[in-house]
Amino acid sequence: MTSVGSVTRQIAALEISTKKPTLVPSSSSTTRPTHSKQPSQTNVTKLLTKFAAPKPFPSSKPTQPSNLRQATRQPSPGPGSTQPAIDIGRYDGGLEIEDEKRGEAVHGEAAEDLALDSSVSRKCPTREWHLSDFDMGRPLGKGKFGRVYMVRTKSAPKYILALKTLYKSEIVQSKVEKQIRREIEIQQNLRHPNVLRLYGYFHDSKRIFLMLEFAGKGELYKQLSKHGCFSEKRSSRYIDQMADALMYLHGKHVIHRDIKPENLLLGINGELKIGDFGWSVHAPGNRRMTLCGTLDYLPPEMVEGREHNEKVDYWALGVLTYEFLIGNPPFEDRSSVNNTYRRIAKVDLKFPPTISVEVKDLISKLLQYDPGRRLALSAVLHHPWIVKYRSKISIRDSGDA
Ligand code: AMP
Repeated sequence: MTSVGSVTRQIAALEISTKKPTLVPSSSSTTRPTHSKQPSQTNVTKLLTKFAAPKPFPSSKPTQPSNLRQATRQPSPGPGSTQPAIDIGRYDGGLEIEDEKRGEAVHGEAAEDLALDSSVSRKCPTREWHLSDFDMGRPLGKGKFGRVYMVRTKSAPKYILALKTLYKSEIVQSKVEKQIRREIEIQQNLRHPNVLRLYGYFHDSKRIFLMLEFAGKGELYKQLSKHGCFSEKRSSRYIDQMADALMYLHGKHVIHRDIKPENLLLGINGELKIGDFGWSVHAPGNRRMTLCGTLDYLPPEMVEGREHNEKVDYWALGVLTYEFLIGNPPFEDRSSVNNTYRRIAKVDLKFPPTISVEVKDLISKLLQYDPGRRLALSAVLHHPWIVKYRSKISIRDSGDA
């Protein structure tokens, strides 16, 4: 669970980091991010003392939606306070413009599959949400099925969220209604500091809206593209967080199956957030043989069409470690897909001389052909290369360094 301290830090950080919002271009998936200097810990502490409510998360009032208790919250200013509201940036009217041209109502069985509304969920019903409940802020990006915006709930306490839209008819055209439903069902039940929270969802005739935790530092992939590769310290801290998150997921019988930099986001303190569950499966002990995921991250058993289990994520963790440090995945062969397959199946692993003996050891132990021989996640957390760089204050510390 996101700790009270970390959420409060996010609030404080947002207070001073978004004064001049950067409008993310709508084609943000191909555009490099604008980097703004983040507040130092000292500044955050000062701000906390100045702005934070003594009890940032008092026990919820009846009107407070249960699924938002942990959301980033604006500290409520006292009477007569001149405290500035968190700046969510300028809304570009994109949803209304888009809605006139895009998508159509969906009928039949698909409509039932996509009638997703957390307020009617039997397990954990919440209050009923509508688009009109939010102040719209800056666009955060565009996904395959719709746009993502920074928003704030209108009613107090005013939560900052990322609102993701999905056009139902496009989901149906792509024949992924079951997958989307599964993604939502999986994500709403997950609570881990390195797993992006899904606080709630609602729908109208054409769209589904996901109320997601706001990842203040955006996509990890953009950072990797910007820097080419990461230092050992930064990589180690990310892998530490990934291993912990994967252990949590596997404990819930969720196999991710699509670990790659493009599916990772960064919180306001630079902490890693697994943010895409499109290929996840609940795996109550069974094995599946469908081929999915990104080629470069596929393990031998999937390349060869064999049964697989949660150890596919161990392999992907090894590939991710390599890509963080070197800047490209270990078995990449741009000349041919078949060559990549062949290299994966042979575990044709080559290290450049620049990387440490310790990390070579970790990567080699994760990239084992036999899934049963891959290093367990608990052992990853105790590996010298991980322990060496772990912050003494908190293992959830930012990877930025
Ligand atoms: P997606 O549809 O998930 O691929 O999202 C499209 C883009 O929106 C991503 O590439 C991110 O830049 C941005 N985005 C998505 N979700 C969030 C979030 N929770 N917080 C911040 N930015 C996000």
